Amino acid sequence: MNKEIIIEIGKDTNIKYEYNPYKKVIEVDRVLFGTERYPQNYGFIQNKLDWDGDPLDSLIISNHSFMTGSHLEARIIGSMEMIDGGETDTKLISVFNGDPRLDYIKTIKDVPQHLLDEIANFFKNYKNLQKKEVIVKGFLGKKEAESVIKECEDLYTKYFDKMSKEEFLKNMKKEHPEKYL
Ligand SMILES: [Mg+2]
Repeated sequence: MNKEIIIEIGKDTNIKYEYNPYKKVIEVDRVLFGTERYPQNYGFIQNKLDWDGDPLDSLIISNHSFMTGSHLEARIIGSMEMIDGGETDTKLISVFNGDPRLDYIKTIKDVPQHLLDEIANFFKNYKNLQKKEVIVKGFLGKKEAESVIKECEDLYTKYFDKMSKEEFLKNMKKEHPEKYL
């Protein structure tokens, strides 16, 4: 499945640029507290709302670092299940479509294991110096990624622009406690 993704953070950088869908601007949230660098490009799919009240995130595998705010087409090959600060915060795993060097990556099984380990390890640790806990549950395939996209599309249609992020989180914690710790 191909999707248009908007880049927030280029690979190998440590500045947490974040799109704020409520204000429709890209904000500089913070510089990562530790020495970690994003192991791959990072961004989101438009019009999908994850359980953390933010757009649905995606890692975009590429050999290059892309510019914040640029749009690209990527194929969704799987997802990484994650809980950040007690909230479900899935990271889709995708591959940039415009580089034939990456054509061999068609499913999550084609991704070199070390690269998956790097991604999981980054997210497990990138908030250590903020004293915040992130739980990485592991990687799933295309089918599961597609159902997350569908779920986040439904959340967007139902709730986005109808309430603030705080109200969304409050309501969802009550109605879907299984998505929160
Ligand atoms: Mg998120």
